[in-house]
Amino acid sequence: MAEVAAPHTKMRAQVPAARWLECVHCGLCLPACPTYLELGTEADSPRGRIHLMREWAEGRVPLTGEVVRHLDLCLGCLGCEAACPSGVRYREMIEGARVAVEQSYQRRWREALLRRLVVDLFPYPDRLAILLWPVRLADWMGLGPVVRKLPWVELVPLPLPRKKAAAALVPARGARRYRVALFRGCVARVLFPQVEAALVRILADHGCEVVVPGEQGCCGALAAHQGDRDRAVTSIRAVLRVFTEPVDALLVTAAGCGAFLRSYGHWTEGTELQERAKLLALRVRDATEFLSSLKLLPPARPLGRKVAYHHACHLAHAQGIRDEPVRLLQLAGAELVRLEEADLCCGSAGSYNILQPQLAQRLGERKARNILASGAEVVAVGNPGCSMQIQAALRRLGADIAVLHPVEVLDVAYRESTA
Ligand code: SF4
Ligand code: SF4
Repeated sequence: MAEVAAPHTKMRAQVPAARWLECVHCGLCLPACPTYLELGTEADSPRGRIHLMREWAEGRVPLTGEVVRHLDLCLGCLGCEAACPSGVRYREMIEGARVAVEQSYQRRWREALLRRLVVDLFPYPDRLAILLWPVRLADWMGLGPVVRKLPWVELVPLPLPRKKAAAALVPARGARRYRVALFRGCVARVLFPQVEAALVRILADHGCEVVVPGEQGCCGALAAHQGDRDRAVTSIRAVLRVFTEPVDALLVTAAGCGAFLRSYGHWTEGTELQERAKLLALRVRDATEFLSSLKLLPPARPLGRKVAYHHACHLAHAQGIRDEPVRLLQLAGAELVRLEEADLCCGSAGSYNILQPQLAQRLGERKARNILASGAEVVAVGNPGCSMQIQAALRRLGADIAVLHPVEVLDVAYRESTA
């Protein structure tokens, strides 16, 4: 009879034993952890989770529903990794644990179904567009604000933008300085097409030719966040097939996609894809990072509106991009206001606000209260998931504050200058 590997052996296969020794249990990461700040329990802190994962990997603790719950409640925001003075690689630990949980743990049917729907629907723009039809109809009938009170539907931007086909090639205006490719993302292209339109306008106006491959799909992050390694690698393989043209940079407007594209080398380790995956990862640039390297001219008239900047976790913690979006806002002539806990996760975290709605809602409202206290008229956010989460939380608190991508803020300033 074939031998079945025990759950802890599967965990051991995912995370090298030496990783656990990097944590010295100092607790300096605790104040950076949103779940610890909200719940106050050690098992919902980075140190507690590392301890649990290690105990499980070393066979001292079985993989119970309780252990899985503490791991599921982790946002994967990497606030802890950024705060840790010992360089603990928490991301490798939690990502490995998620793969091992999916390989060894039988979830209750409702939870399993919901997780399945997330990976079967959201990474496919056509399926997502069909799913949104009832919301579009409700908007058309003037019922948009009413249906936005429903769970999950509240995350859909109001109004829902029209679906736009992207041109395959946008030429540079004037002499060509760069040739770049655009990674459209799956959720971003359906719910935030205005962000990519704003980016393409600015790029073309500043001498960049933009290539937009038509057949591109999901980067694989949604599957990876759920521990579905096989699906994640299938998505990576498809992305590698599509992005083959030589370009100066592969631009991304969604922080979550950018962070995952940069980790392609790690996810394809030991496969025939790894070399190509690493090369692609080297070309990835967040849109704000690339634009701020272009030395753009400021708009003729400064924007002059109070703007608060929220640091998306997958931009600030996962990619170390903090200053570039702020520089774009300064260039736009925004009046930047101080946002408390600007780099604390808003609770979006990929599909977290669908899978863990209660804690996500608490974190969303914590973020929204800080935004209200800042006196901002606009919140700038570099990730579609955060935009949806923050818009919904602000609406629940009855606040009417625009949530825009930093690239959109700059584009608004340029267009208002020439109007
Ligand atoms: S993860 Fe880093 S900061 Fe947190 S307890 Fe371990 S060593 Fe300390
Ligand atoms: S990734 Fe975020 S939620 Fe998870 S332990 Fe680290 S700080 Fe806490």
